[in-house]
Amino acid sequence: MRATTTDSIRVLVLSADEDLRRALHLRTARAGYAVEAVATEDELLSQVTRRSAEAVLCHVQEQGDGTLALLHRLRERQCDACLVLIGPDLGAERTAALLRAGAFDYLTSPVKTGRLKDALRQGLEVRRSFIQVRELSDKLKTANQDLSHERDGLQRWNHNLVLLNELSQAFAGTLDADEIVQMVGDRLTKILNVDVLGLLWFQPRRVWVHASGSIDEGLVEQVRQALLAEGDGLGTERRRKKQSAGASEQPVHRLLVWPVETLEVPLMVAKERMGLIRLQRMQGEPFDAYQVELIKAVVTSLSLAIRNAHTHSQVQNLAMTDGLTNLLNRRAFSNILAREFKEAERYRTPLCLIMADVDHFKRINDRFGHPVGDRLLKEVAALFGQAVRSVDVVTRFGGEEFAVILPRTDAMQALVLANRIREAIERHVFTVNGSRIGLTVSMGVAQIPDPQVGTMDEFVAMSDALLYQAKSSGRNRVEAARPAAALVADAALCAQSAPASTANVW
Ligand code: GH3
Ligand code: MG
Ligand code: MG
Repeated sequence: MRATTTDSIRVLVLSADEDLRRALHLRTARAGYAVEAVATEDELLSQVTRRSAEAVLCHVQEQGDGTLALLHRLRERQCDACLVLIGPDLGAERTAALLRAGAFDYLTSPVKTGRLKDALRQGLEVRRSFIQVRELSDKLKTANQDLSHERDGLQRWNHNLVLLNELSQAFAGTLDADEIVQMVGDRLTKILNVDVLGLLWFQPRRVWVHASGSIDEGLVEQVRQALLAEGDGLGTERRRKKQSAGASEQPVHRLLVWPVETLEVPLMVAKERMGLIRLQRMQGEPFDAYQVELIKAVVTSLSLAIRNAHTHSQVQNLAMTDGLTNLLNRRAFSNILAREFKEAERYRTPLCLIMADVDHFKRINDRFGHPVGDRLLKEVAALFGQAVRSVDVVTRFGGEEFAVILPRTDAMQALVLANRIREAIERHVFTVNGSRIGLTVSMGVAQIPDPQVGTMDEFVAMSDALLYQAKSSGRNRVEAARPAAALVADAALCAQSAPASTANVW
């Protein structure tokens, strides 16, 4: 019974003395252990290194100095075998030194068989307990590492939840797409250590590029152009066809330009692809799975926020646009004129306002009906739009009346422009049922600064009064407030060069 429990336990016997080696081998084997005997320390060390022995019986010679050195070498090799020493009586001090150096027991020769067996059994038991403790402590160490990893992960998630919460609140606070992208750009470039953040929105097509301070303008422009090229549907569409529908919604790691690490995440609302966000790290440091998850979480609310901002601006535009002519409506007129009026006052720059009214338009409606009147009004509106400069603002003031706001423009320039519009309408070929009909407009031009104008309403009233004056003076005319004496001579010159029947200039 004893043999079966110990014969798989391997014991190494070390003795330079052959007789002793044999005797120890025999006694240990009889005790039921699997024994191997070696004559040199080197043989012992190589066996121990291979972890081929659970116990070592070592014969101590002379004063035990060699054995002490051997014990140190075994410890260096992290030997966990149970070490039992057998040798002469060395005295308490030397024996204690050997035990401190790692020996489990010291047996003074001659050793009785029972004593040897007991020492081996107890030593092996202690070793077993030691190994169990060591294994448990390793497990505990791993568990602690896992826990600390987990805790770090939770801390990062917590941090991200705070970020997501902050962003959601910030998104809720604005309906301006530029502001939204700015906020995301500011935060994500810092948190994710990203050099360039580009965002492409398909409808309406817009591109934003947000770069950290170290990135030069040239590169920002390159990213912008690359995104614009995606937006024309070529690059993206071609690639998307190759991917399955599901895969196209996943973030894509790209190596567009070595060594730049690029992560591209689609912007989705419900199942619709609205655009994409492209993050670039110029030094090529890859994005980890965790960062990808964070970006995915951000883009969900980002996509919704931008979509809402665009919907809002569309609604705003609709509220500011006249449905018939597509020109800005009366409300937009008031907003823009108020803004320009303030600017002109603050910077002492000239501002002109043209009020225009189609002549005898009632007759058109009476003769051809309202729908024809509508069509002709649209044509008149288009002529206004074509005649003005890009900085001028044409609005439908109401009915068949139009108002044109001319920032940083003086009365002379405004007069020239008004006559250009008037002539364009007079010359235009309007047709109804195949017959040509003529339409003309009358206009009043007011300018600030003007000593008689202190408020925006007074400004509008003055141009309206001048329009009325143009009507009562015969229509198809432009009337302007009489400017300073210095301008009168110029105006006279202008009157000579214009056809007498179509212009009215002082
Ligand atoms: P005046 O030269 O004095 O301006 O004569 P007028 O006939 O144009 O002036 P009046 O104010 O008497 O009539 C304006 C007409 O413009 C009456 C109205 O039916 C027409 N009108 C205003 N808005 C619209 C519109 O949206 N569509 C059409 N078809 N007609 C309009
Ligand atoms: Mg009219
Ligand atoms: Mg009118």
